[in-house]
Amino acid sequence: MQSIRKRLSILFAISSLIAILLTILFVNITINNKFNKYMLDIQNKRNERIVSYFEEVYKRDNMWKEDSGIELMHEAYMGNYCLTLRDTNGNVIWGMDPSNIIDSSHLSNMNVENKGVYVNKKFDVIVDGSTVGYVELGQYSSILLTEEDIEFKSSINRSIILSGIGTLGIVILISLYLSNELSIPIRKIAKTSKRLSNGNFNAKSYYESDIEEIEELRDNINILGEKLRYQDMLRKRLVSDISHEIRTPLNVLQNNLEAMIDGIFPVNNQRLVSLNEEVIRFGKLLNNLDTLKEFEDESICIDFENIILDEFIMEIVHEFSLEAKSKNINFECTIDKEESYLIYGDRDKLKQVFINLISNSIKFTNSNGYINLYLYKNNESTIVEIKDNGIGIKQEDLPFIFERLYRGDKSRQSIEGNGIGLTIVKKILNLHYASIDVESEEGVGTSFKINFNNTKA
Ligand code: ADP
Repeated sequence: MQSIRKRLSILFAISSLIAILLTILFVNITINNKFNKYMLDIQNKRNERIVSYFEEVYKRDNMWKEDSGIELMHEAYMGNYCLTLRDTNGNVIWGMDPSNIIDSSHLSNMNVENKGVYVNKKFDVIVDGSTVGYVELGQYSSILLTEEDIEFKSSINRSIILSGIGTLGIVILISLYLSNELSIPIRKIAKTSKRLSNGNFNAKSYYESDIEEIEELRDNINILGEKLRYQDMLRKRLVSDISHEIRTPLNVLQNNLEAMIDGIFPVNNQRLVSLNEEVIRFGKLLNNLDTLKEFEDESICIDFENIILDEFIMEIVHEFSLEAKSKNINFECTIDKEESYLIYGDRDKLKQVFINLISNSIKFTNSNGYINLYLYKNNESTIVEIKDNGIGIKQEDLPFIFERLYRGDKSRQSIEGNGIGLTIVKKILNLHYASIDVESEEGVGTSFKINFNNTKA
């Protein structure tokens, strides 16, 4: 396996090498073509100049002489090409030997490209519209280059190659920097996640990156760490809370039974009923813990169906009316009848939600208090609000009331409960894509607001 740094560096280096080689090749071919074209143009102009020189010579003498234009021979030797002058019958008036231009000493100043193939071009010498002779121009290459030309060409090639090498160097440095920019933060995040997986939930990644995705990854790992730490704390607290919750009824049972065995308490019906109530309470706690476990294992089965929420709520309210009345609590239900309240949900689970909330309200509201239940629609949502003027919840307890076994301040321990109801409520609502919010003031009252999203529920 390769590290990100190595893999990225190799990728950058290979791709930039290919790009630079292609650029060098392209620039080189283009410059060579342009240069050759330029040299050909010059050569053609030279040819035109030579032919018109011969035309001038013929015009001046009105005939060909044995030395007509022979002064061009020197230039031809120096320019590494061969000149031959012929009359209209094709007879040579004077001419140069092609082998001379290869052997001659001045060749050290000339370079011949594609040496070897001798090309001869024939041009008409035209005076007053009629051909008076021919000039032959022969050379060993299509393009003749001087040493300066060759030097010019190769210096351009050298600069292209040098700039290519320079660019490659810069690209390699940049690629090392960029791959470091990627690999260092990822490596740090990997280290943090390893520490988290080893159970060190205090591990956090502090190394900031300006790459959006990496920063997001770092944030998520940090959030994950916080959640794991929180869950770990809850787990530890849960164990101690459960043992506390179980120990209390067990102690009551044990003390009472021991007192009965020792004959301190008489064994009568009233005592046995009270002990039985304790056993029932204990059973309820275990049942609730079982339900909670099912939710936490995600093994709970949900049976979705269409529910007409207003009718459904009215049935539950009806079931609680006697209990509320016995405590002299005014329980009212306000439903906006204009609307239809069809939602998709699990009937039994949602019933448990409303039972938990309403029974809490009755439990935590003193006699002569009131409970109001509102059902209405708000844009995309169906809202159920359960409001009471009971004992309320302390501000410091509010963030925790949906936690397992959280029961608020000690003063309410006398009211029966085990702190699991709201945890189950929240989990059921989560399965229905619904949310629950709470507002409360100690001594004033509490309001729970459930929000069913109509597009999802
Ligand atoms: P419990 O079995 O104790 O009722 P819940 O999970 O249902 O457990 O509630 C957790 C805690 O939230 C309760 O112990 C209580 O302190 C607080 N609480 C819930 N509902 C109300 C309410 N309507 N009024 C006042 N306090 C409430």
